[in-house]
Amino acid sequence: MSTGTLDPTVAARIVAAVDAGFDRQLRFTADLVAQPSVRAEEQSAQDLLYAAMGERGLSMDRWQIDPAQIDSHEGGSPIAICYDDVTNVVGTYTPATNTGRSLILNGHVDVVPTGPEDHWARSPWDAQIVDGWMYGRGSGDMKAGLVANLFAFDAIRAAGFAPTAPIYLQSVVEEECTGNGSLSALLRGYIADAVIIPEPEENMLVRANVGVIWFQVRVEGRPGHPREMDTGVNAIDEVTILMSNLRVLQDEWNAQQGAHPYFEGVHNPINFNFGQIHGGDWPSSVPSWCEVQVRAAFYPGTSVDNAWSQLQQCLQRSESSRPGVTYLVQRTGFFAEGYVLDEGSAAEAALAAAHAYAFGSELETFVTPGYLDGRVFSLYGGIPALVYGPISKNIHAFDERVHVESVRQVTTTIALFIAEWCGVEPL
Ligand code: ZN
Repeated sequence: MSTGTLDPTVAARIVAAVDAGFDRQLRFTADLVAQPSVRAEEQSAQDLLYAAMGERGLSMDRWQIDPAQIDSHEGGSPIAICYDDVTNVVGTYTPATNTGRSLILNGHVDVVPTGPEDHWARSPWDAQIVDGWMYGRGSGDMKAGLVANLFAFDAIRAAGFAPTAPIYLQSVVEEECTGNGSLSALLRGYIADAVIIPEPEENMLVRANVGVIWFQVRVEGRPGHPREMDTGVNAIDEVTILMSNLRVLQDEWNAQQGAHPYFEGVHNPINFNFGQIHGGDWPSSVPSWCEVQVRAAFYPGTSVDNAWSQLQQCLQRSESSRPGVTYLVQRTGFFAEGYVLDEGSAAEAALAAAHAYAFGSELETFVTPGYLDGRVFSLYGGIPALVYGPISKNIHAFDERVHVESVRQVTTTIALFIAEWCGVEPL
């Protein structure tokens, strides 16, 4: 177990600085969780981060995502909402001495909806710590990580050092639905020698993830009175048939996992989620329409066009097997490929050393079968993407929470990584 080239005295001072700032870090995390930054309502959370980065003397940038720029990029996803109030925030640290490797510290500020709030033990926007866990929507995914980036950066200077390479602290939107926020940051010109994204990853490094496509199918049948139900075509019944046909394709793709490096032992890596459904007009009318929103996953190394064409073929087969039924298909969000983090990079070695120092154990890697913005940096920026972060429970569910001690250790890892990767000099 190597702990890298970092001077033990420097490392010890940085660890102590993370610990000394940790209560303030938790309070700031709770303030950020209190901002209900669901899609298109990220502004108050972004305001808080903009101010916090500005107070630290970073040079601040804030901009709206440009739909035309996203549309024209191969990694862009279809845009289903107005982007007028949707802004990214980046704070840039420019070193006095520039001799090290540059770094992006990225995180997303958007959170998914809460679902029925009466199923939560407390308000999803009230970030209490109970038995070592901080609760709240977005606590794990990923405001604790977003704030860990900021306080890891603080710890270097609190310990009496200055990083010797540029550092870009990014708070992006649109991670939970398109990935267009990180893509917009890349297209604005923010590149670096590595990126860390502290998503909730169980104190581990993501080796590979899946691509994701969102689409909607509007199924149209034929209305009628239930007394002569057979004269109608029930669109809700037809959606259940469509969903089972998509499940067959999902199972076929899961059966191919042995052919995809790193996915061999993963339990059901390919999941098609039917996330929203609505249709019909009246209990006593055969419904003529029903819409279903689908999230489908596919393996890295498969192009998004190829995956989409297989999905479309499945939809066409399903439609043509059902007389009197029409499918109207539309892409509604993610149109994103997966990626694999190449083994043996200098960035991974530096992270492994920092992790070993912070945790006293070796860094483990794993496959996560969900979408990650790491693909933006990896596929379109050629930047090693280290997606690595704390232990969480119930993300995208009720009573989401993040493990506080894990957050402290991950913050320590990130701070030590900054020192190792960017280099430091005395303030
Ligand atoms: Zn996330």
